[in-house]
Amino acid sequence: MTALVLTDQSPLPEGQKASLLGTSRAIREECIDATTLQLTNVGKIFDQLEAIRSISLAVAKGEFVSLLGPSGCGKSTLLLMVAGLITPTSGNVIVGGSDVRTPRADVGVVFQTPILLPWRSVLDNVLLPIEFLNLPRKNFIERAYALLKMVRLEDFAGALPRQLSGGMRQRVSICRALINDPSTLLMDEPFSALDAFTRDEMSVDLLRIWQTYQKTIIFVTHSIREAVFLSDRVFVLGNRPATIIDEMKIGLPRPRALEMMEENDFNQYVRHLRCSIEAGHAY
Ligand code: ADP
Ligand code: MG
Repeated sequence: MTALVLTDQSPLPEGQKASLLGTSRAIREECIDATTLQLTNVGKIFDQLEAIRSISLAVAKGEFVSLLGPSGCGKSTLLLMVAGLITPTSGNVIVGGSDVRTPRADVGVVFQTPILLPWRSVLDNVLLPIEFLNLPRKNFIERAYALLKMVRLEDFAGALPRQLSGGMRQRVSICRALINDPSTLLMDEPFSALDAFTRDEMSVDLLRIWQTYQKTIIFVTHSIREAVFLSDRVFVLGNRPATIIDEMKIGLPRPRALEMMEENDFNQYVRHLRCSIEAGHAY
C-alpha cells in the first residue's frame, strides 16, 4: 500500500484534499477482497431524533480504523449497530460476509467503563464470555493467561477488580473482549477516563495486542493524536446526524513508538485532521 505523507499544513487546498481522499479511496478499493466489515447507507433515527445519516464504509481484515467526532454526534450508536446491539433504521451492516442483526461472538466490545464483576477475580472476569457462550472453560485458561501477560497483568490473575487501578481494569476488559478470539474488536472511547500517561501506555499495549492477534479494530476517540498514533485510517464524523466528513489514511511506519508523536510527519496528520474537524464544525 502507498504511504501517504502530508507535506503541507492546513487548511489544505481543496484540490489537495480531494487528492488525499482519492488516494484513500483507491487504497480502500485495493483492499476490497479483504473487506471484513461493510456499512452501506446506514442510518439511525431514535423516535424523532436522527442520529446517523447514510454512512457507508468498508474496513479491511486486520485494519485499525478510528472514528473521530464531537460528543453526541452518533459514534456510540454507530459502534452499537456494528455490534448488533442496536438495529439500523436504514441500510445494512455486514461483518464477515453476513448481515448483523443480533450480537455475535465474533465481535468483541470494549466500553469506556470496564464494568467488571467485583466479586470475581481478574481471571474469572476474563473468562466470563466463555460461560455465556457455553464453551468449556478449561480450554481457554491458557489463552486467558497469555492475554493477561500481553497486558502485563499476569501477576494479577487472582486479584479482585477493586485491587486494580483504572488502567489495569480497562486492560482486563480488553482481555475479556478477546478471550473467545473474535475477528473484530469495537472500542468506544476506552481510554478517555484514564490519565494522559496511562493512556499513552494503553495505546502501546493495544498496538502490541493488535499486531500479535491480528484483529480488525474500530476505535472511537475524541483525541486526534490517539487516532493518528493507533490507526491505519481515520474517519471524521460531523455533527449530528453523523455523516463522514473526512477520511485519512495514516502512512506512518509500524511498529509505532510514542516518540513518533514528536515527529513532523505525525504532527502534519494531526494538523490536517484538526483542520478537517474545524471545517466541518465538528468540535
Ligand atoms: P456519541 O457517542 O457520538 O457521543 P451517541 O451515539 O451516544 O453519540 O448519541 C447520538 C445521539 O443519539 C445523541 O443525541 C443521543 O442522545 C441519541 N441517542 C443515543 N441513544 C439513544 C437511545 N437509545 N434513544 C434515544 N436517543 C438516543
Ligand atoms: Mg459515545
